[in-house]
Amino acid sequence: MTNLFHSFYWKISLVFLLLLIALGAAQVLITYNSSMQFVRQADQKLNLDLAKNMAGEFEAELEDGLDISRIKSSIHDMMVVNPRIEIYILDSSGKILAYFIDPPGEVKQDSVSLGPVRDFLQHPQSDLIMGEDPRNPSLTKPISVAPLDIGEPQNGYVYIILGGEQYDSALRMLENSYYLQTSIKIFGVILLVTGIAGLIIFAFLTRRLRKMTGIISKFDQGDLDQRVPVNSDDEIGRLAKSFNSMADTLQENMKELKKTDQLRRELIANVSHDLRSPLASIQGYLETILLKESTLSHEKRRKYLEIILKNTFGLRQLVEELFELSKLDTKQVEPEVEPFSISDLIQDVALKFEQQADDKGIQIVAENASGLPLVKGDIALIERVLSNLIENSIQYSEEGGIIRLELKQEGAAVQVQVKDTGAGISEDDLPHIFDRFYRAEKSRSRSEEGTGLGLAIAKKIMELHGKEIQAQNRNGQGAVFTFELDRAN
Ligand code: ADP
Repeated sequence: MTNLFHSFYWKISLVFLLLLIALGAAQVLITYNSSMQFVRQADQKLNLDLAKNMAGEFEAELEDGLDISRIKSSIHDMMVVNPRIEIYILDSSGKILAYFIDPPGEVKQDSVSLGPVRDFLQHPQSDLIMGEDPRNPSLTKPISVAPLDIGEPQNGYVYIILGGEQYDSALRMLENSYYLQTSIKIFGVILLVTGIAGLIIFAFLTRRLRKMTGIISKFDQGDLDQRVPVNSDDEIGRLAKSFNSMADTLQENMKELKKTDQLRRELIANVSHDLRSPLASIQGYLETILLKESTLSHEKRRKYLEIILKNTFGLRQLVEELFELSKLDTKQVEPEVEPFSISDLIQDVALKFEQQADDKGIQIVAENASGLPLVKGDIALIERVLSNLIENSIQYSEEGGIIRLELKQEGAAVQVQVKDTGAGISEDDLPHIFDRFYRAEKSRSRSEEGTGLGLAIAKKIMELHGKEIQAQNRNGQGAVFTFELDRAN
């Protein structure tokens, strides 16, 4: 039962049926009232002159003063003809002097209000004038009234209640009326047909909702591929569309979350691995130094200490880069965008690495591009990108190599390229070099240096600027890294 009322279908059906029943009841009530009104009006119209005629009859009897018993017998004859009336003789103030009711009954009031009496006499052709019923003070009934000379200074009235008590059984009369019964039957049939049609239409409309609920609950149980078919552009169609787009977003987010989770696992694995090797090396050399303290030559001790220092430096760099990447990931670093001269910046960065390149016999050529517009960006972060690229170029180039820093205006942007004449990047490695911790096997075996985070950091910084960074091979002559910065207004 509770389930029944939880169903939307039954809720709207119930409201609909209740409304239909209320409509039916209102219709019966209105029909009953208007029928009553009609009967009363007809009664009054037909008996408009009844009181007048009666007064004419009485006046002969009243010539010698008001003699109730004499009047009674003549009234009796009239009431035989029309038993549905109650006759009252009123004085000029409305006080009841005599009444004639058949069968006799209790009269609860000893006077009636004269308002309707005057209305009747002044506007005899009015639609319907209802007067007080002395037997039922709370009810008003159609009347017929005429003045009556009762031998007093002022006239009295003949006051006739039409229909009398019999109106109270009018409902029964109407119940038996063919017209009323037929119209109630027709209305009943209309209600029944409307009710059934309504229930069928609601069932049809809610079927789509039920279908949708089924699909959504499957989605809820984990089947994220479930989508609601959209067959219309109405509210339900739009709801289905909204659900589908929400499901798409949710699925995308889930994929993203899974990917992030996977990345996080890889990151932990990589970090542990990259921490373990230098730590093991440091531990090994320290143990050797301690064990062979007395026998170790000065040169060897120095060499071991240098290796330890180099590993410590590598560890520090790894931790710093991890920290930097995590700050970029969590958006703790917001680029402070300002106009600056990229041409000046590459000169500065080239100068910074000149000594390091020189030590390896490599030349850095920074193009002196005059006339280029200022660019927009966070100067410190862009410097970091350039440093990472130049560091890599130095690292992966042999003696005699040349690193060129080139600038070119490209529409509303300035293109920056770092070209080297080093080993280049294999086609297999190319799609992955911007991934965290990715190091091409070649470079891994050749050098223990490098964390595999430098390019990931560069890519993240460019993403924060809304830009991309790309790597290409220069047909066996080394690698080229390219990115763009928007010109400042
Ligand atoms: P790493 O610290 O190993 O240099 P990066 O993220 O900076 O890490 O670079 C990732 C990998 O991309 C490197 O291991 C290397 O294999 C490759 N790479 C980057 N720059 C160059 C370059 N200029 N020439 C050749 N290979 C490069």
